[in-house]
Amino acid sequence: MPERPLPPGGAIGILGGGKLGRMLAVAASRLGLKTHIYSDEADVPAFDVSAAKTVGPYTDAEAVARFADAVDVVTCEFENVPAEALEAASRAAPVFPKAKSFAVAQDRLAEKDFVSGLGISVAPYARVDRLEDLRAALSRIKPPALLKTRRFGYDGKGQAPIRTEDAAPAALEAIGNVPALLEGLVLFEREISVIVVRGQDGALAFYDPVENVHQNGILAISRAPARIAHSTAVAAKEIAGKVADALSHVGVLCVEMFEREGASPALIVNEFAPRVHNSGHWTLDACLVSQFENHVRAICGWPLGETARHSDAVMTNLIGADVDKWRALAAEPGTAVHLYGKAEARPGRKMGHVTRLFPKG
Ligand code: AMP
Repeated sequence: MPERPLPPGGAIGILGGGKLGRMLAVAASRLGLKTHIYSDEADVPAFDVSAAKTVGPYTDAEAVARFADAVDVVTCEFENVPAEALEAASRAAPVFPKAKSFAVAQDRLAEKDFVSGLGISVAPYARVDRLEDLRAALSRIKPPALLKTRRFGYDGKGQAPIRTEDAAPAALEAIGNVPALLEGLVLFEREISVIVVRGQDGALAFYDPVENVHQNGILAISRAPARIAHSTAVAAKEIAGKVADALSHVGVLCVEMFEREGASPALIVNEFAPRVHNSGHWTLDACLVSQFENHVRAICGWPLGETARHSDAVMTNLIGADVDKWRALAAEPGTAVHLYGKAEARPGRKMGHVTRLFPKG
């Protein structure tokens, strides 16, 4: 435990004003902490629920430093926060997680090198800067494979499947000829993720692994707990803890993995996010202390909270027009509705989520 945890009444600065920032701000308010949101957009979900706001570019070091100076600790709700924003903030206030967590997670190549360097299995991969690299990589990692941009890929964006070696030029073109990574296709049974929280003192707490279903590259459903063997759940938590420790991470970290039944190793890490994560939203309703509150506790030097599940849960994202069903969902027994206050329900946009609770199995 640090010498002086941030007491109630203190202020947390959050870089980013999306739905994750909104849910972090709500969690902070439950602990009597205030939030100040910094966003590069004027109309964002987190502004509705925070005590203070700043609108400015993340690259404006002076504005970010002024914002950080007005709070007691700074955190981020999105992964691709520019390094210069973290640096500017850290001149005025402690920033958690530290820059390393972001630097590694922002670059798929650095991420793969880091995770495999810890002795954790990842898909076969190769660096691709130009077409010759891709051709050479394809002679080693045979198709089917995936070409992924090194940076700014999310929700399945920045990816091109490669089914035959002839498709190499088109795939590179499709991702915009940017620095990339070729990845062998993993044949998996299911996708799981582990939400781990690490305190300033290195304490670790884990939520049970969840099973994730993606549709069109976007997370659609998370089921807690994942339908996996106990030994697999233990191994998944161990992997997540190892990554969090190796990063000296402070706060919530989400590690996404593929589970292969009957294959060894059973777990292959796909990627991690150095922040609260969509696959942890169920913890708001099925746990005493949610991922959001535990992130707040960690960055403020508080004791970590209970991560055990009191109910099983299925979280379903409300994407685009799904949100129009809010009335029917609100009338459904055993269902918690969470809406993010976004004005326009564009296709593919995460507008909210619902969590259905079930007796613990
Ligand atoms: P990502 O952007 O890396 O999270 O990938 C988005 C989704 O694509 C994942 O959730 C998987 O469903 C799928 N995917 C990504 N990488 C692989 C891989 N190497 N093998 C099989 N499926 C993958």
